[in-house]
Amino acid sequence: MGTVLITGASRGIGAACARAFAKAGFDTAINYLNSADKAQELEEELRALGVNTMCVRADVSDGREVAEMFARIRDTLGDPDILVNNAGISASGLLTDMSDTEWERLISTNLSSVFYCCKAALPAMIRAHSGVIINIASMWGEVGASCEAAYSAAKAGVIGLTKALAKEVGPSGIRVNAVSPGVVMTDMMAEYSADDIAVLKEETPLNALGTPEDIADAVLYLASDKARFITGEVLSVNGGMVIT
Ligand code: NAP
Repeated sequence: MGTVLITGASRGIGAACARAFAKAGFDTAINYLNSADKAQELEEELRALGVNTMCVRADVSDGREVAEMFARIRDTLGDPDILVNNAGISASGLLTDMSDTEWERLISTNLSSVFYCCKAALPAMIRAHSGVIINIASMWGEVGASCEAAYSAAKAGVIGLTKALAKEVGPSGIRVNAVSPGVVMTDMMAEYSADDIAVLKEETPLNALGTPEDIADAVLYLASDKARFITGEVLSVNGGMVIT
């Protein structure tokens, strides 16, 4: 089937993507930063499905670590045919309270990471004249969230990068798309109270909260040949919470 790298695959949406690709028969590289135990458990789970898999620790906000990660994957599984840029962090608060360091952390983890990983993945994809890149954006990158300016700016940047890169590498046979999740129940939602989550559910036209598997299904679709004519697209998976 091919090889996929999913960044931030130790937990949440990334872990669900890793399971979905492994079940579909892809050799799967699981990137993580801090959750080594979870990444290793997932690696064992995926190996039991009969695919080749590996965990690779790297801080994707650091271009040097990303380059080293790709070298290790190349040696073990081969060059990734599919790259899922999923790793991300959120932070909420007033823009006027945000330090320069926190701004840079949000932008480097959510946006520069996508640049570093695309830059590392593309040479092999261009040589092969095929490849798929899927970037995980956010509905807040589409419409902006109050008190999440840095996160919204980074995710809007991911959407802009997706569209521009799709035009740049389409002639090389490479598709680049984004999946833009709405409210998905992962650790990222931990700071929300049960009441806040109930309100978010109520504000969602389908009156449901998203699961990591909802996002993984959309990612797997965009990676498949069924999406062979789709590039530069932002697939919103949000229960209708944001319709642009
Ligand atoms: P999550 O449960 O908090 O998981 C985040 C993942 O990213 C973890 O595997 C974490 O790895 C990894 N990560 C964070 N910083 C990293 C770094 N510098 N280098 C490498 N890995 C790093 O989050 P999630 O909800 O699954 O979110 C996944 C993606 O979906 C993010 O891009 C997020 O912005 C986006 N999203 C989520 C929602 C939502 O409602 N959950 C909505 C819209 C968009 P370790 O644990 O190993 O450190």
